[in-house]
Amino acid sequence: MSDDNRITRRKFVGSAALAAAATLPVYGQQQSETKSPREGPEERKTQRSPDHHLPNETDPGARNAPLEAENPDTVWGAETDSGTVPPFKYSFSLARKRIENGGWTRQVTARELPISKTIAGVEMRLTAGGVRELHWHVSAEWAIMLYGKARITAVDQGGKSFVSDVGEGDLWLFPPGVPHSIQGLGPDGCKFLLVFDDGNFDEFQTFLLTDWLAHTPKEVLQKNFNNAPETTFSHIPKKELFIFQTELPGELKQEQTESQEGTGMVPKRLDFRPSEMKPTKVTAGGEVKIIDSKNFPVSPIASAIVRLKPGGLRELHWHPNADEWQYYISGKGRMGIFTAATRARTMDFEEGDVGYIPISQPHYIENTGTTDLVFLEMFKSDHYEDISLAEWLAHTPHKLVDQHLQFGKAVIDAIPREKMVITPR
Ligand code: MN
Ligand code: MN
Repeated sequence: MSDDNRITRRKFVGSAALAAAATLPVYGQQQSETKSPREGPEERKTQRSPDHHLPNETDPGARNAPLEAENPDTVWGAETDSGTVPPFKYSFSLARKRIENGGWTRQVTARELPISKTIAGVEMRLTAGGVRELHWHVSAEWAIMLYGKARITAVDQGGKSFVSDVGEGDLWLFPPGVPHSIQGLGPDGCKFLLVFDDGNFDEFQTFLLTDWLAHTPKEVLQKNFNNAPETTFSHIPKKELFIFQTELPGELKQEQTESQEGTGMVPKRLDFRPSEMKPTKVTAGGEVKIIDSKNFPVSPIASAIVRLKPGGLRELHWHPNADEWQYYISGKGRMGIFTAATRARTMDFEEGDVGYIPISQPHYIENTGTTDLVFLEMFKSDHYEDISLAEWLAHTPHKLVDQHLQFGKAVIDAIPREKMVITPR
């Protein structure tokens, strides 16, 4: 809420505000003399009602009722929300789908969500046999398979090859500039999320094999490919393939052997299977798996896969080393962020939504649904870092903490000494 609105509201409540001010302690009176006075609890009662029946709470329309139903924390925001916070949510459901034979794709980048400067995301669906054309790009590509199976291929600077099949929950990482492909397998292809370490990444502006060769003179191609006859190059598609339908790939072992001939396999695997690792942290409220260059050495992008049980809370924290880009895989939750100088905002998230929190801005995520809330925390950094509010306070002289917050020393003494990550413990 703007300061202007706040002043108008104070006029609206009139004498009630004066009465409330008279009962405030000295500390509160000092506050009330500043430009943006703190409001007392009595005053709030006149502005909000539990069932939203007051005259100042009605909305005669126009309203987008389905959108409001999905965003209860926007319609009736937390009373702690304040000020203007730049948008930090965008849904893949609002992104344009590019549909091709063989599948479709859509992206959420800094163009759709301007705050998301360090990371962009792409969703892609490939049919069984559908191919994301051989290509490369300047950004690193981190990926998680959301549904089905795919065959991935890549070749590194040493001519070393990587061919692998990935299934639901598996990750891969294509380093910057390394050419690669993805092909949907049976019985029903796949759907996956790609995460790039550049908010301005554009999946429609990658270096495509067919696009490049269609724009290279045939006589140059002849020289490049051992003087093959010119007719060899007359079937190169005039227009990029990008995503196209073809038949399923050959047997995995045989394709690996053929691709590795003379050079061998890449020195470090480009895929990772979170299902084969133990959670980094398990509590009564859920669990988290942290995957960064410590356990997935090729990745310049750090990630946390978080599962919150109903009621579970990803505790109050921030990340001192990078912005956080989020993707919600399943369930429903809300996130509250604080951007300093009294500004705070709560928004609701569900599957297919993207969230974004700038470096060092504190936040929490709460499961508000009846099923597990599963989401990704992604960082443009080769390692994961966070600072927990509770851990910070537990390791600061307790007397000093109590002088700030007045919890009572017993409560502060009882804060666990180790990071909780997810509550309840
Ligand atoms: Mn790619
Ligand atoms: Mn976070």
